[in-house]
Amino acid sequence: MDDNKIIITAAVTGSSPTKEMNPAVPYTPEEIVTAAVDCCRAGAAVTHIHVRDPKTGAPDFKIDLFREILEGIRERCDMIVNLTTSGLRLAGPDVISQRLQPVSLKPDMCSFDLGSMNFRDRVFLNPPEWGDAAAKSMQESGVKPEIEVFDVGHMYQAIHLIERGMIDDPPYFQLCMGAKWGIEGTVENLLFMKRKLPAHAVWSVLGVQKAQLPMITTGMLLGGHVRVGFEDNIYLKRGVLAESNARMVEMAVDLAERLGRTVATPKEARGILGIPALP
Ligand code: ZN
Repeated sequence: MDDNKIIITAAVTGSSPTKEMNPAVPYTPEEIVTAAVDCCRAGAAVTHIHVRDPKTGAPDFKIDLFREILEGIRERCDMIVNLTTSGLRLAGPDVISQRLQPVSLKPDMCSFDLGSMNFRDRVFLNPPEWGDAAAKSMQESGVKPEIEVFDVGHMYQAIHLIERGMIDDPPYFQLCMGAKWGIEGTVENLLFMKRKLPAHAVWSVLGVQKAQLPMITTGMLLGGHVRVGFEDNIYLKRGVLAESNARMVEMAVDLAERLGRTVATPKEARGILGIPALP
């Protein structure tokens, strides 16, 4: 494996930014597909997808929206598609099965959050039964889990699943730095998180808002992969809104190349992450 290759993930919409904050935030399936495909052309090998109510832009979780976006991207490029399972606003006795609906579409990857935490203005509940159910569902469906950890304790829960054979090799971690109220996005904290990873893990880092550039830069220097996009940050630099998600990917590509890294194609990223090639 070429350790110099860097996988860039584009998280194009998330659930928080609005068009009032940045008019380029995509809401409709067509807008989200176009944003993802443009990011692929700019150098992103992976796109992380949330869905929105097409009219209001409110966070949504309808399976038809996920399906339309997955199929739309598939028709136009070979990038790795990562569907969220965070379901932060879902509730009810069947919340786990609701959250796992995107896995049934058999995308290449799904995000997998471990560890309950206060998350901005709400509680992000990821109880132990969620961890077991999600790991099992993804393993049985052949969907690569992207283990999102917002603090160091979450990593130990992932290691517990890995030790029980519930996550296939190589385990893939997204170190989520600087989210309210997870671990702060500092260089010292990123070094600490990296040290706690299993030796054979593949890892990527994201930084929320003003932590984005420091965290992806440090991640690039440490040999990690990186995530950018409007889910994490809508500014290209202080006070300057990014015109598009693709513009943020271009920034990350430029930075990576200046730091001596080579951007991985989707095919190369599939090799690094152990995700089968598309038929
Ligand atoms: Zn997300």
